[in-house]
Amino acid sequence: MKRRVFLTRRLHDFALKKLKKKYQIEIHSGKIPIPKSKLRIKIKEVDGLICFPYDKIDKELIDLAKNLKVISTYSVGFDHIDTDYAKKNKIFVGYTPEVLTNATADLAFSLIIDVLRRVSEGDRIIRAGKWTEIYGAYDYVGLDLQHKTLGILGLGRIGSTLAKRARAFDMKIVYHNRMPISKTKEKLLGVNYVSFDKLILQSDIISIHVPHTNETDQLFNKKVFKKMKKSAFLINTARGKIINEKDLVIALKKKMIAGAALDVFQIEPINKNHPLTRIQNVVLAPHIGSSTKETREKMAEITIKNLEHGIRGKRPIYSVGY
Ligand code: NAP
Repeated sequence: MKRRVFLTRRLHDFALKKLKKKYQIEIHSGKIPIPKSKLRIKIKEVDGLICFPYDKIDKELIDLAKNLKVISTYSVGFDHIDTDYAKKNKIFVGYTPEVLTNATADLAFSLIIDVLRRVSEGDRIIRAGKWTEIYGAYDYVGLDLQHKTLGILGLGRIGSTLAKRARAFDMKIVYHNRMPISKTKEKLLGVNYVSFDKLILQSDIISIHVPHTNETDQLFNKKVFKKMKKSAFLINTARGKIINEKDLVIALKKKMIAGAALDVFQIEPINKNHPLTRIQNVVLAPHIGSSTKETREKMAEITIKNLEHGIRGKRPIYSVGY
């Protein structure tokens, strides 16, 4: 008898075809994210689960999953899964690092250019019929990237790929991790290690690339915004919960910082009436860090490979924890 696999949402057709050959699969259709009440029922029956970053896989669900061997998430972030509890229950957790690194670093860099050169803001002005005169010497000026200090919080896969892009634009790069990378790597990337405090004090642009954990939850709050340069910009392509959004709105309105560009939010999709949507020096993207055709296909491939490994009792190719 074929093993059973449940997907909380459709994946690419090629991936579904492969899965169907080996497993008895069921795909949730309807409301996204899948209601917990439905997931409670489905998780009881299956050997493998494919989920997405908005599906919270907590202790309660893991306790119900009597046959489950693997949770395979279509994301590099795994803050939505209780990975410790999964491990305790001998359930593998697979995730998709590396393949999405370039796409996400590209998006972070495009947000930096966008907010400093006011591209999306200009688009909004034109569409609203407010571009009525050719701009003069002092009108609608943006800022150079060259010689600005970029502070990268989380110089891991995505952070260090962003550093390479920033170097090509002649930016100065500082970074903060819990542990500095090796001197050789620092030299190669052209980056300097600083404390978190120095990073927020010195940077003209801060780009967040840490995972969302207890340590990084609401890390960017009133206190931090007060310390940042008034001319600084905040970029977030990591996770929405790393920023206290209420404090960010106040900081932007009170001009404590110069602007922000965000791909991720506390609640997604962000409501069209959210105060951030009414602030002009903010660029908003609909959580598209990894969203290129090529990257998404590679993510699907890894997601199913991780699942196949886990169902066979083997460690997924990319495995969280164990
Ligand atoms: P990664 O390679 O694991 O890098 C994370 C970095 O953060 C590491 O250098 C780590 O260094 C540092 N870090 C972790 N906790 C920290 C803390 N408390 N304080 C300071 N530094 C800390 O991860 P990645 O592949 O670059 O991905 C980063 C995150 O991006 C993911 O977790 C995900 O949430 C997000 N993401 C979003 C999208 C999107 O669509 N917007 C797409 C992909 C990824 P130390 O361990 O030395 O501290």
